[in-house]
Amino acid sequence: MTNLIYTADYYPVGDIVVVSICFVMAVLMLFSYNRKSRSFKIFLGLIAMLVLAANSNVTFNMLGLSGRPEVLKLINPIRCFYHACLFAIFVLYVVYIVEVTRLEREKRRPYLIAAMAIFFAVVATDIVTTVRGSTAVAIEQGVGFQSRHVFFYGYIAFVALIAVLMASIRNRLYRKVMLGFYGSMAISFFILLLQGLYRQSSFTVATFLYPVIAMFYIMHSNPYDASSGAMDSRSLDDLVKYDYQNKRDFLFMSLYMPDFDGEGRIPPEEVQAVIRDYSVRYFKGCTLFRISSGHLLLLIPKKRNIDYEERTHRILTDFKAQYERFKYDYKVVVGGSIPEISENNEYADFIRGIHRDMDMNSIRWVKADDVNRFRRYELLQQALADIYAGYDLNDPRVLVYCQPVYNIRTGRYDTAEALMRLELEDLGMVFPNRFIPLAEENGQIHVLTMIILHKTCEAVRRLLEAGYDVCRVSVNVSALELKDADFCEDVVGIINRSGIPGDKIAIELTESRTDSDFDHMKQTIEALRQHGIKFYLDDFGTGYSNMERIMELPFDIIKFDRSLVLASEASPRSRAIVLSLANMFAGLDYSVLYEGVEKDSDEQMCIDMSASYLQGYKYSRPVPIERLEDYFSRKT
Ligand code: C2E
Ligand code: CA
Ligand code: CA
Repeated sequence: MTNLIYTADYYPVGDIVVVSICFVMAVLMLFSYNRKSRSFKIFLGLIAMLVLAANSNVTFNMLGLSGRPEVLKLINPIRCFYHACLFAIFVLYVVYIVEVTRLEREKRRPYLIAAMAIFFAVVATDIVTTVRGSTAVAIEQGVGFQSRHVFFYGYIAFVALIAVLMASIRNRLYRKVMLGFYGSMAISFFILLLQGLYRQSSFTVATFLYPVIAMFYIMHSNPYDASSGAMDSRSLDDLVKYDYQNKRDFLFMSLYMPDFDGEGRIPPEEVQAVIRDYSVRYFKGCTLFRISSGHLLLLIPKKRNIDYEERTHRILTDFKAQYERFKYDYKVVVGGSIPEISENNEYADFIRGIHRDMDMNSIRWVKADDVNRFRRYELLQQALADIYAGYDLNDPRVLVYCQPVYNIRTGRYDTAEALMRLELEDLGMVFPNRFIPLAEENGQIHVLTMIILHKTCEAVRRLLEAGYDVCRVSVNVSALELKDADFCEDVVGIINRSGIPGDKIAIELTESRTDSDFDHMKQTIEALRQHGIKFYLDDFGTGYSNMERIMELPFDIIKFDRSLVLASEASPRSRAIVLSLANMFAGLDYSVLYEGVEKDSDEQMCIDMSASYLQGYKYSRPVPIERLEDYFSRKT
């Protein structure tokens, strides 16, 4: 062994640490929920390879140190195996990276081929050169070799390949994730460099471990909310996908508590303790997920809980007892896994959709029709988003219907209310109770209002041009919209562009409960009134009315809700109240309009109760705005 060119000191500590860390990761994975994706399996392969590499490294070094000639023969095969393991780790890095970045098939192929080519080339060369005579010898603290060239070149080739791969996909990974990988690799190189400088070889396998730890942390750790004991919703997606692919049925129980929904709002410690307890006490093998801070979802494997119906009953009974104790509002939804919903991982949205038609503090079992309802709801959401994004004032999907209003003083129809409908390809005609609240929630209502306003102005212009006597048409506006700084400008702009006078348009507002921005609202109303626009107070008598505020806002017409008409009909006492309210408003120069006049007797009663205007099915159902011609009369 005269021309020994590579010797280094070796202690098994590095490899022992590698093996122990791999075991720690394995234990962590075993006892936490993990994403069972393909990348996760590759990741498991990486860990297995690391363990193999570390063990073979320890083995051949120890054999070498023993110095016994009969075992020295074993050194070379084990060393080749050890190198093959390290190169296999490189190959798995490449496979892993193309997998997590979802690289397209054609794009990943050259990298995979290159990785395999390098792998076979270096492993084969390694074996051949070893067989052809380079031998190992035990030196004082490790094993010395005649040549390390093969390993060295293979290493460089793989590093180059991975660098090219990483550069080509740099836009696919979040910057921070990218930096995480680079950082861990930089540390690896640094350790290798140090090793080389100090003629050490104990930490080679460890340098292959650092990027794996980075992957574990970045891609496979589960954001876990310690307070509720729940996993985050990303892991929910994975479990659902896994169960769907493996046809495993589960039961789900969703608990929504609006009090705790929102940034920074968390349930008090006592409630959290109950939740933690509930998530483990009733079912075997179940997992609790957190959809949002106030929305939790428990997934229960049916197979492991054959008596799940009885258990469900028990948990719900106990839940109600807990509610009596804490009194936080809730909505609970219970159901079995639904393939259509699992397929696209839509439980969170699906449940949110169900919440919409649920009363607070109720428990709802999912019904067969809920999926269809959810699909319709989704189509509606899409349509609204599309209308909003398009902001086309002539959008053909938004229809204006109109309900003519009977003017008692003139005995004619000269005003009307514009009412919105959507006509959608897959859903047909959609009524406002279905989509207005949704559009309000999604912040899309203003665009819809502007479309209705534009179409109404155009129709009014045509009626005026055709010589009809149109006093005005009222448009419904959500109180939310008034908060928008541009509201006034938008409305005036549309009216002016249509060329009709501002007093041909009125705005109907429903009193909102929230006091916020009252002054701003008042200013906006005043400004629009300057342009001749009249204001109606809509739905008077529903819910709560703040008289002081109503008086302070400059309304022209008070619309008495249909419920007041019905109440007046039902009891003389109610009638006396409605009458005095109407008289009071009339005395203060407001006009009173009664909504929902359906019968002849309603009409007479309303006329006797200080009505100026009447609106209802008795006169007409809402009709397409073009048909107002049938009701309005021409000027003489
Ligand atoms: P609203 O403003 O109170 O509109 C009156 C509703 O009562 C209309 O329902 C109308 O069809 C209905 N109605 C009229 N006469 C009678 C009657 O004699 N008996 C009964 N039972 N009902 C009658 P529609 O068109 O379904 O509108 C529902 C609600 O949707 C409206 O209530 C309004 O709050 C909202 N809405 C409609 N169009 C718009 C709009 O363009 N913008 C906004 N923000 N909301 C709108
Ligand atoms: Ca209205
Ligand atoms: Ca109304």
